[in-house]
Amino acid sequence: MIQPLSMMAPPNLDYSDLAEHVIAGQRLSELQALALLQAPDDELLNLLAAAYRIRRRYWNNTVQLYFLMNAKSGLCPEDCHYCSQSKVSDADIPRYNLLSREKLLDGARLAAERRSRTYCIVISARGPSEREIQAVEKIVPEIKARYDLDVCACLGLLTPEQAARLAACGVDKVNHNLNSSPEYYEKICTTHSYQDRISTLKAVRDAGLALCSGGIIGMGEEDRDVVRMALELRELEVESIPLNFLIDIDGTPLAHTRRLTPRYCLKALAMFRFVNPRAEIRIAGGRELHLGSMQCLGLYAANSIFVGDYLTTKGQAPEADYKMIEELGFVITKEEEVAA
Ligand code: SF4
Repeated sequence: MIQPLSMMAPPNLDYSDLAEHVIAGQRLSELQALALLQAPDDELLNLLAAAYRIRRRYWNNTVQLYFLMNAKSGLCPEDCHYCSQSKVSDADIPRYNLLSREKLLDGARLAAERRSRTYCIVISARGPSEREIQAVEKIVPEIKARYDLDVCACLGLLTPEQAARLAACGVDKVNHNLNSSPEYYEKICTTHSYQDRISTLKAVRDAGLALCSGGIIGMGEEDRDVVRMALELRELEVESIPLNFLIDIDGTPLAHTRRLTPRYCLKALAMFRFVNPRAEIRIAGGRELHLGSMQCLGLYAANSIFVGDYLTTKGQAPEADYKMIEELGFVITKEEEVAA
């Protein structure tokens, strides 16, 4: 079994050397991950260059695009404090029940046109109703017959039986975010527990599906919580990690919470790459808001972005994303892991 790297005091941390150790199969300790997240600003480019070595090893210069479809909006009985669709949110958002077959197919067409690898069907719910599961079972084979797309389902908490049904109908992966550390979770949600989320991820894994699970940074948590989340995702061997930066939407309990700097967001992305070297790491919600003019630098650590809008907030125009990727010299691909 691979042991954690021996601990080096943060001032001696040689990011490049550390990246080579990670590529050789060694695992970062919690302290080392924390040191990366707290790297001095004047070390940011060195940190990103080292994260890029790891990214290039497993993903080369490729970028995987994801497309989100908010298939049922604003009707959730849960109280996730960051979420505009929760029962405790007064945010001014669209509220509607599960979209029709035509609208879901329309979304898949748009995802394919926008060069996405994955079409994400997301509903606001504690978990799916029988009717919603049946709708997914019906639409997924149709989508896959028409388009060259993976399908990711984000339907809330799942039982093992529901997860098995999703696998059987052709869903490729399930998204269910850990969102924060086990310790901080009860500060952001009281209607379900961190353990409920872990149980869903285990059910998904047992059903043979790939895991998509990440979190949100900027909810008032400590740096240690961000690191703990990265380590938990490593333990779960999550294949795809969406990293959101809180969009503090008016009307949600977390409106006007801690503001993030672009530099901190970049350090977080780099730390996630070091801790989860082989994972597909996606810069998710809040990319435009928090990274601003530095968002292209995020792709030296991450290898995936959403193209188009987020669930209830706007993203930048797809053309701006394509231009950014092209100017970086990176390539949009639908392939799985690409070892250099
Ligand atoms: S369960 Fe999902 S949709 Fe419901 S409040 Fe939480 S994050 Fe929002």
